[in-house]
Order: sequence, then structure tokens, then C-alpha cells
Amino acid sequence: MASGLSRRRGHPSLKEGRRDQIRGAEAKLKLDLHTHLFEATRFSEVGERMIGLIIAKIKEMGLNGIAVTEHHNPDYGYKVKEIVERAFENEVVIIPGREIYQWPVEIVELFLPNQATFRFIAHPGYPGDFTAVEDVHGIEVENALHDWHIIKHKVREMAAKHDLLLLGNSDAHEIRDIGAHYTEISLKELCDRARSKTG
Ligand SMILES: [Zn+2]
Repeated sequence: MASGLSRRRGHPSLKEGRRDQIRGAEAKLKLDLHTHLFEATRFSEVGERMIGLIIAKIKEMGLNGIAVTEHHNPDYGYKVKEIVERAFENEVVIIPGREIYQWPVEIVELFLPNQATFRFIAHPGYPGDFTAVEDVHGIEVENALHDWHIIKHKVREMAAKHDLLLLGNSDAHEIRDIGAHYTEISLKELCDRARSKTG
């Protein structure tokens, strides 16, 4: 698959490695930035066999990676990332995150390199109506689980007015649902947008 993620052969010089890293950060990636893998795996301890299945699904859907955004606690996402790095040579991008209540909306936070946090409104219209946008960088216009709650023209208007990134995500609670929607964006743009406003 053509992407910025292909494995290197041999030992790159430091300069080459850095150049690849930069190119990788600027490459447009297909990312599903809202998944609940802990729930999808029936709250089982994260292990290599399970991660293998998740990676296979990510690739089957033609994605470069996902964010792992359990409710409240980002630990599970960090564990997944650690295993993908250690045992799977970073075959796919894993962004640790979490989903939190901030009545009347739910916010997904993505923990990016250099302490940058990208925040977006998940499924606008559920559970409550969305109004506050001061401390967010994006908003879902597609969510496979809650699509009927989303008034798309209203979301697009809001996004244009406040310069929010429009996102499509699966909100997968089952491995088979990973990648039902995705967003094409580079890691650099996510980081730049995260730094453009602070909460
Ligand atoms: Zn969710």
C-alpha cells in the first residue's frame, strides 16, 4: 500500500531517518479517529493476538491508522500504541485518546506528539444540542453510529464559521465496524490545528 508508513530496510542515516519522519508527518493519511476497542474486545486485556486482528481490519479497510478513544481513560489507547510499536513495527498509526462528557456534548481528545491535544465534538446533536465551540478544533459530520442525529448542513455551517475540521469516524464498538468512516488528513495538520487554539 502506498503510504508514508512503509517499513525501511537496513539502517537509515540519522538525516535520512529525520527526512522520512517529516515526510511521514506531512503525508495525507486515512484515519478513523474515534473507536472504542476496549468495548469492541469485551473489555479484554490488550494483547498481541487482539492487536493483530485490529491491524488486519485497519488494513482491510485501506486505512493508515486509527485513534483509540475509550470513555474517560486514555490508558488503553497508550497500551495499544505501545504494542503496535514494539511487536508490529508501527505497521499502522495509533493515536491514543479518550471520549469525555462535557454536557451537552461529548468531546473526543486525541493526544498527539509534543503535548498537542486535538479536541473535536463527537456526534453533534447527541446527547444534547451543540453550541460551545471555543475550545475545539474539529467536529464530526459523519459518525457511523449516530449519523441520524447529525444535522449536516448545520454542522458544515458551524465548521466554516469557526474553522473546524470536518471529521468522518466510525465510533466503532465492534472490530468489524472499524473504518466505516474515515478522515483524510496529515499528522502535521492535526498537530498544527491542535496548537492553533487552546482550551
Ligand atoms: Zn464514542
